[in-house]
Amino acid sequence: MTDDTGGLLTTVRRVLAQGVDLVVWVGARLVAPLRTDDDPNAFRLSSVETHTTTIEGDTGWGHRPPATVRCPECGAEILQADANDPIDCPECAATFQPDRFTDLELLTMTCPVCRAPMQHGQRHPHTFDVPEWATCGNCQYHWEFKHFY
Ligand SMILES: [Zn+2]
Ligand SMILES: [Zn+2]
Repeated sequence: MTDDTGGLLTTVRRVLAQGVDLVVWVGARLVAPLRTDDDPNAFRLSSVETHTTTIEGDTGWGHRPPATVRCPECGAEILQADANDPIDCPECAATFQPDRFTDLELLTMTCPVCRAPMQHGQRHPHTFDVPEWATCGNCQYHWEFKHFY
C-alpha cells in the first residue's frame, strides 16, 4: 500500500523534474497560474511550445552569466566569465577560487547573448549569498540560479 503511493509519487516527481528546468522561469513570468497545477499532463500543455521561441534563458549556477566583481585588494574590476573559473585580478596578484565568489562584491552581470549589463537580484537573501536571477533588458535573456550545478 505504501509502496504504491511511493511509486506514484516518484513518477510524478520525475515528470515534474523533467519539465521544471525548461518551464519554471518562463512560467514564473508568463503563466504563473500553471505553476500551481498539480497535474503533470496540464503542466506539459503549458507554454513550452508557444513562448520559448523569442526568449532565451538558462538555469543553474554552472550556466551563470559572466559576472564582474570588485577586487578586495586593489579595487579593480575582475571579470569572471564562467562560474567555475578562478577569479583572477588583472591589476594585482590577487586570485580567488570560484567558491570565494560570495565573499566578493558583485558589480555587474553581463548578458551572454548580447553583452549588455543585466539586472540581477535575490529571491531569498537570507538563504543564499548569490544572485538568484538576472535579466537582460536589451534582449530579454533570463537566468535563474535554482541550483549549484
Ligand atoms: Zn586586484
Ligand atoms: Zn541580452
